Amino acid sequence: MNAKVWLVGAGPGDPELLTLKAVRALREADVVLIDDLVNPAVLEHCPQARMVTVGKRGGCRSTPQDFIHRLMLRYARQGKCVVRLKGGDPCIFGRGGEEALWLRDRGIEVELVNGITAGLSGATNCDIPLTLRGISRGVTLVTAHTQDDSSLNWRALAEGGTTLVVYMGVAKLGEIRQQLLEAGMATDMPVAMIENASLPEQRECRSDLSRMEDDARSFALKSPAILVIGRVATIAKAAKPLAMESA
Ligand code: SAH
Repeated sequence: MNAKVWLVGAGPGDPELLTLKAVRALREADVVLIDDLVNPAVLEHCPQARMVTVGKRGGCRSTPQDFIHRLMLRYARQGKCVVRLKGGDPCIFGRGGEEALWLRDRGIEVELVNGITAGLSGATNCDIPLTLRGISRGVTLVTAHTQDDSSLNWRALAEGGTTLVVYMGVAKLGEIRQQLLEAGMATDMPVAMIENASLPEQRECRSDLSRMEDDARSFALKSPAILVIGRVATIAKAAKPLAMESA
């Protein structure tokens, strides 16, 4: 095996949602650097590897990004096959892009392996189709959390007509609600809040834009959770489907 760093998505939690390619990388790994949203059950595929936990949960103890970069570089330069295992997809709010660039800049071979991102999994597990003919022509994935001063273009999000999937939104529900209402989104726009998507403890709370903050509070919504905001979010296993005007 060549020294290489695999940046691998472990999916949203359900170990059966791991890709075959992720399993192959895990089987070949000498070292696995594990993010904290990774279900430890997936580690059954790499009993031979050294495991290093490098969690980065917002608000909790975390490993500085620079340290993670240098750790990957050190192991790769020792000729080890390194797997950096991340929750969901490595390139959806997962820093996969910046880690790949940083390592390639230093001459390290990098391979990215898709994982199923939490937004897709959460919606599908609640029977919410993120796109639906006649109802939603697209999906926009956004994070409510930034480490800089940038802000989202709320007007574009409110007027865009796509289903919005919001990551890292639990602590920002008030702001999301207010910004979307101010930007003109309908007060009754359906919202689904999905906690622990794909895991046995998955919970879902259905609401709408005006009530989402209060409903999340009574539901005691906790991270990790994703929000699905859009007309498709009224569709549920038991619910009557929307009338599809132009289907
Ligand atoms: N790379 C990951 C996202 C990392 S950002 C992915 O593609 O899924 C972390 C955020 O992802 C959490 O704050 C939450 O919004 C979401 N998330 C991750 N796992 C989740 C899960 N099992 N259920 C619901 N949301 C989840």
